Amino acid sequence: MGLLPARRPTRQIHVGSVAVGGDAPVSVQSMTITKTADVEGTLAQIYALAAAGADIVRCTCNEAEAAEGLAAIVPRSPVPLVADIHFQYRLALAALDAGVACLRLNPGNIRNPEHIKLVAREAKDRGVPIRIGVNAGSLDKDIADTYGGATPEALVASAQRELAYFDEVGFDDVKISVKASNVPLMIEAYRQLSAVTDHPLHLGVTEAGPPPAGLVKATAGIATLLAEGIGDTIRFSLTADPVEEARAGRQLLEALGLRARKTVDLIACPSCGRAEVDVIRVAKEAEAALAERQLPIQVAVMGCVVNGPGEARTADLGIAAGNGKGHLFVKGQMIRVVPEAQMVEALVEEAERLVAEGAEARIAAADTGAVEEAERDRQAMLAEQGDDPNAVAQRVELIHKELE
Ligand code: SF4
Repeated sequence: MGLLPARRPTRQIHVGSVAVGGDAPVSVQSMTITKTADVEGTLAQIYALAAAGADIVRCTCNEAEAAEGLAAIVPRSPVPLVADIHFQYRLALAALDAGVACLRLNPGNIRNPEHIKLVAREAKDRGVPIRIGVNAGSLDKDIADTYGGATPEALVASAQRELAYFDEVGFDDVKISVKASNVPLMIEAYRQLSAVTDHPLHLGVTEAGPPPAGLVKATAGIATLLAEGIGDTIRFSLTADPVEEARAGRQLLEALGLRARKTVDLIACPSCGRAEVDVIRVAKEAEAALAERQLPIQVAVMGCVVNGPGEARTADLGIAAGNGKGHLFVKGQMIRVVPEAQMVEALVEEAERLVAEGAEARIAAADTGAVEEAERDRQAMLAEQGDDPNAVAQRVELIHKELE
């Protein structure tokens, strides 16, 4: 879709109702941070993650009580669930009994080939896929020794060894991840893996940390690969409310044109000497107010009516400040003027009406006096601020004096 290179062909698997790989849209995953034994708490978080954009949710299955919790959660979950398994293969079997849609196994800590094959056989019998989740931080020691540490080649070798075990029992319903917290390492590992397998790939930068640095790291790794056509499902691993990681995942796919827009794309001018309002504050308030609403439009918050409507004319809806007022425009056409204190409220109201009624109807219903009022405000600002509100000419003159 769009201007990115075509996605590299992968075979398709199904995590419950969600197709992963092949021509399926890139999916968003997230993980609960509740105790899985806490059924109501975990379900509440799963619903919040699904609402924020997660197509698939993973829950830890680290003890018998967690597996029992999954048995109660699976039938009530709005999205397919993956059980995260470390060390104990028996918990993988218990999670299958609980009815999960997918397992995640870490080859670095379930090492006995017979245990791995047993889990694969059981998964195969039930038509449940497995993610081979290689992690640079918990790589098999012998592979790390052979490759001189957690190199890209070592991460790929770990995945291939697990695949070979699965192959022995005729199981190939697999997706793979080779995550690292080091972004260049992760990128190169996925590139190499993509060259040697057609299994769908689950992308992630592990332990990316708290936002904003964590968001930057995760985006750097995941977006680079997606822009190369690599990756079938993604997860942002943030040290934050998991709703943030689900939202970020969805926003990244929408920004890259890999998923249709479901949420608001808020753009805002960077502000300058012309700004008639605190653009950062208004943009943040608008972002918060619009975040929960499923409105697939681009909304612009602009600091002044002199340049704002023109600069944001491609936005579906925008608001520009000036003369103590907010000037609302649809597709660059002025439709309403509201007091400055009501800017955010009016923007949200108009966004909902725009989605419900369409742009043409909102332009047709424009306040007839709005265009004239906006133009008067614009001219008043120009008269007051002139062409150089940032006082560039004055500064240049000062510089000249300094250098004389
Ligand atoms: S000219 Fe107006 S719209 Fe452009 S950056 Fe400055 S305040 Fe924002």
